[in-house]
Amino acid sequence: MSRTIIVSNRLPVKAVKNDQGELEYLPSEGGLATGLSSVYKKGNNLWVGWPGRYFKKKEKKQEARTALQSKNMSPVFLTQEEIILYYEGFSNETLWPNFHYFNQYALYKKSYWDAYKKVNKKFCDELLKVLSPGDKIWVHDYQLMLVPQLIRETHPDVSIGFFLHIPFPSFEVFRLLPWRRELLDGVLGADLIGFHTYDDMRHFLSAVSRICYISNHHGQIQKDRRTIATDSFPIGIDYDKYANQAAHPDTLSREVEYRTSLGKQKLMLSIDRLDYSKGIPARLEIFDIFLDKYPAYQGKVSLLMVVVPSRDQVEKYKHLKEEVDLLVGRINGKYGTVNWTPIHYFYRSFPMEDLSAFYRMADVAMVTPMRDGMNLVCKEFLASKLDQKGVLILSEMAGASKELSDALIVNPNDKHQVVEAIYRALTMPEEEQIKHTSIMQETLKKFNIHHWVDLFLGKLDDVTQKRNELATKVLDDSVKSMIKKDFDKAKKRMLFLDYDGTLVPFHSDPQAVSPNEKLLSILTELSNNKANQVVVISGRDRKTLENWLGHLPIDFIAEHGVWLKENENQWHMAEGLDNSWKGEIREILDIYVNKTPGSFIEEKDYSLVWHYRKVETGLGELRAREILSHLKYLAVNMNLQVLEGNKVVEIKNIEVNKGKAALKWVQQFKPDFILALGDDWTDEDTFKALPEDAYTIKVADIHSAAKYSLEDYVAVRKLLEGLY
Ligand code: UDP
Repeated sequence: MSRTIIVSNRLPVKAVKNDQGELEYLPSEGGLATGLSSVYKKGNNLWVGWPGRYFKKKEKKQEARTALQSKNMSPVFLTQEEIILYYEGFSNETLWPNFHYFNQYALYKKSYWDAYKKVNKKFCDELLKVLSPGDKIWVHDYQLMLVPQLIRETHPDVSIGFFLHIPFPSFEVFRLLPWRRELLDGVLGADLIGFHTYDDMRHFLSAVSRICYISNHHGQIQKDRRTIATDSFPIGIDYDKYANQAAHPDTLSREVEYRTSLGKQKLMLSIDRLDYSKGIPARLEIFDIFLDKYPAYQGKVSLLMVVVPSRDQVEKYKHLKEEVDLLVGRINGKYGTVNWTPIHYFYRSFPMEDLSAFYRMADVAMVTPMRDGMNLVCKEFLASKLDQKGVLILSEMAGASKELSDALIVNPNDKHQVVEAIYRALTMPEEEQIKHTSIMQETLKKFNIHHWVDLFLGKLDDVTQKRNELATKVLDDSVKSMIKKDFDKAKKRMLFLDYDGTLVPFHSDPQAVSPNEKLLSILTELSNNKANQVVVISGRDRKTLENWLGHLPIDFIAEHGVWLKENENQWHMAEGLDNSWKGEIREILDIYVNKTPGSFIEEKDYSLVWHYRKVETGLGELRAREILSHLKYLAVNMNLQVLEGNKVVEIKNIEVNKGKAALKWVQQFKPDFILALGDDWTDEDTFKALPEDAYTIKVADIHSAAKYSLEDYVAVRKLLEGLY
C-alpha cells in the first residue's frame, strides 16, 4: 500500500509541558493542519517536520521521536542556530520579503543561504530514512524549496508534489535573488508544483523560462527527461467548522457581551499577523481619511483591529509595531470622545470563539494587504456570516481576490478608492449584501480545504500515472543484444532515422549541424549493406538533405513527408497534395511579421512556417497563440493542420506527416525488421504508425509512444555502429 508523506517546516503540533513536567504534543489548529489531518492520520501515512522545540540530549530526542511516531509524525531536530539562520534568516528575511514584493527588506547573506541548504538537506535525509518504494511525497512551502530536487537525486522515480503557500513574485523581482537558479532547480525536482493563483504560476513559469532557459507547454515543463506539471490550487478553509462555530451558543453569548460594551455603532473588522505585507499602517491612514471626509460617521463606526504578535524581536517588525501603536494612538486621540473609541486595538491573538464572535458582529471586514498569498481571514469572515449580512473589502493583492470577485475589490495603495469602498460598504442595502455574500459562500463551500487536498493529491496521482504510462524502457544492454539478434536474422531491414536531435545535436542555427565524418561513415557503412534500407525522415527541406547526404544510397522523407526519394531515384512529391491555400494563409502570417520584430516566414514546398526564435521572450509565444486562434476555424475548412514546434508555428496540409509517409514505405517494401529513432513530437507520428514489432526509440525523453529511449545523439550513433 503506497503512503503519502507530507513534509513541512513545522509539524502540526504544539509541544507543551503538562502538570507533571512531561512534554505533550497537542494538535495545532491551523487550516493546513486541519486539511492535511485527513491525509497524514490515515493508515501508515506520515508528516515529517520540526517539532517546534529544541532537543539537545539523545534520550530526549528518542522520547520525542517515539511520542510523535505514535501520531504518524517524524521529527526533524533543528538547533537554535539553524532556526535563526535558516528559518528566521533565509526563509523570513530573504525569501519572504522578496516573494511579497518588499525586496528592499531582503537580506542577501551567505550564512543564511548556507544554513538554508544545510537544513533542506537535513529534511531530505530525515525523509529518506522513512521513505519506502511507492510512497508519494508532498513538500510544503518556501522554507523547503530545495527538498524536491534533493530527493530526486537519489530517487529518480519517486512521485513528488510541491506547494507554495506564499506568492511567487514576478520574474523582475525574483531575479534579484543571488540564489534564484538554485531555488528554481530545487523546486523543479517535483513532478507537480502548485500555487494559489494562476498569476503565481505564470510568474514561476516565466522565471523558469528566463533563468533556466526552459520553456513550457500549457504549464508543462520538460527537464532532465522528465515532465513537470504546474497548476493553480487556491487553498480553502474548513467551511463547516467556521459556519458551525458561528452558530455555537458560546459564540453567541460572547457576541452579546461584546456588543453590549461596544454600543450600537457599526463595526469594521481587521485581523492580521503583524507583518509589513498586511498593509496595517496604510489601513489606519485610510480610516483616518474616511473619518475626516465623512464626519457624519464619527461616533457611528468603530474599527476593531486585531494584530497577532509575530517576529517582533526582528528590527523591522519592532518598527512596524511602533508605527501601528503610534497611528492608533493618534487617530483615537484626534477623533475619540468619552462615548466613542474609533479604534479598538488588540495586539494579541484570540481563541476561535472570540474570532467567530468578531466575524459575526462585523458589518464590514477590511482585508487590505499589500500582498498576500491567499488570506484566510476574509474566507473565515464570509463563512461566519450565517445571515449573509456584511460586506467584504478585499485587496486585489490577496490571492483570495481571484475567487471572491463579489467583494469590493480595492488597490490598497489607492487610499481614496478604499475610503469610497468603506462608504459604499457602510451604505450598501441589505439585499445587495446578501446577494454578494451568498455567491461567495457557495464558492467557499465547494472549494474548501478538503477539496483543495483532494484536488492536489488527485492531480499528483494523474501526473504520476501518466508518467508511468508513457515511460519508455531505457534501452539497456539486454535490449541492445535483442535488437542485434533480430537485425542479424532479418533479410530486409528498414531503418527510419530522424536527423536533428537524433543523429546530430539540436542547434539553434540549423545550418551549423551538417554531418561530420563520423556520422557520414556510420550512414555509409549501414547503407552499403544491401539488406539495409536506410531512410532519413526529417522536417528539413530536401535541398539541404540532398546536399549533405544525397551522395549516399539512402532514402529520404523530407519536409515531414512532402518530398520523397527512394532507391536513388529522383526526388518526387507525395501524391494528392494541394498548394492553393498558401496565398490566403501567407497574408495572415504577414500581419504577424509586420507587428513582431524578429519574426519571419519560411516557405516550404507544402507548408508555411512562422519563426519566432529571434523575438523577445514572451512576445513570440503570445503571437504564436494569437496565430493559433486566428487560424483555428480557417485551417479546418481548408484541410490544413497548424502545428506548434520549437519556436515555430507550421501550417501544412493535413495529409502530411512522418507517420503516414513511414507507413507507405513499410507497405511498399515489406521489411522484416524495422528500427525507428526520433527525438521530437513529429516522430511520435512515426512511432504510432509503425507495426507492433518495430523497434521504436525516443531520443532525449522517456515519455513517448516509442517502446524504448536513449539519452542523446551520441548513444544513437553508438547503437547504429553496433549493428554492423
Ligand atoms: N488567527 C488566529 N487567532 C487570532 C487571529 C487570527 O488563529 O487571534 C488565524 C485566522 O483565523 C486565520 C489565520 O490566523 O486562519 C491567518 O491566516 P491568513 O492566511 O489570513 O494570514 P497569514 O498569517 O497566514 O499570513
